[in-house]
Amino acid sequence: MIPAMLQAWIDTHCHLDAPEFDADRPAVLARARAAGVALQVLPAVMAAHFDSVRALAHAHGLAYALGIHPLYVDRSADADLDLLADALARHRDDPHLVAVGEIGLDFFVPGLDLARAERFYQAQLKLARDAGLPVILHVRRSADGLLKGLRRVPVAGGIVHAFNASRAQADLFVGMGFRLGFGGAMTYDRALQIRRLASSLPDASLVLETDAPDIPPHWLYRTAAQRDAGQPTGRNEPAELPRIAATLAGLRGWSLDETAATTSANAQAALPRLAGLVSPACAG
Ligand SMILES: [Zn+2]
Repeated sequence: MIPAMLQAWIDTHCHLDAPEFDADRPAVLARARAAGVALQVLPAVMAAHFDSVRALAHAHGLAYALGIHPLYVDRSADADLDLLADALARHRDDPHLVAVGEIGLDFFVPGLDLARAERFYQAQLKLARDAGLPVILHVRRSADGLLKGLRRVPVAGGIVHAFNASRAQADLFVGMGFRLGFGGAMTYDRALQIRRLASSLPDASLVLETDAPDIPPHWLYRTAAQRDAGQPTGRNEPAELPRIAATLAGLRGWSLDETAATTSANAQAALPRLAGLVSPACAG
């Protein structure tokens, strides 16, 4: 039971199935609940993880998404797209299955087979469209490529997670019914563009995420040099969400209550099946 004094937060992007949590997952979940994180969305990154992500969501009253992440396309077989189609069909009535994801394009990491990534992205957009599900998108230097795909295969909106593109690109995603995910990167003083977006985008376009165990907020680093070298002193986890939310509240001049209410409503608008999970998760 969440005490009435605490806001109820939704972490719209958390890789709780990652090996970083193998040693203490129940404690991570308990800390998240104690911090008022009522619900987490667990996106899969490859077909081999579909069953474990689903089992984790069911065991703890959380939400999940099924998809093949752009950084995992090169180690996935073409047949994994069929496995995704099968899983989406098999679980179509599962209230915990809220989206297709994490899918997208990454034009930052060198050495990826980009033609193959485009093919997987398009194929997964079609599966989402056919299933009537929103999508959770990964963007890194790839906003225009993602938008091009969405014009070809329109889907029921969703979330562009860890949003890091331009204001013009943000407006195009919002115009297509997407919400934009903000998390740990927003807490870095030097992330000027992300902080500008978090301050100025329309209220209805913002959702919160940790992307745990990745993108640790600034307070999990000891020094700026460590941050530049990508060496966090602590692992990111969903219990960090309220403190990340306080950064958003500060940037927008919102109270914490306002921040929780607005971002939770936006998350439910982006991923409509979340609405069916919010109450059981709060009561559990
Ligand atoms: Zn992710």
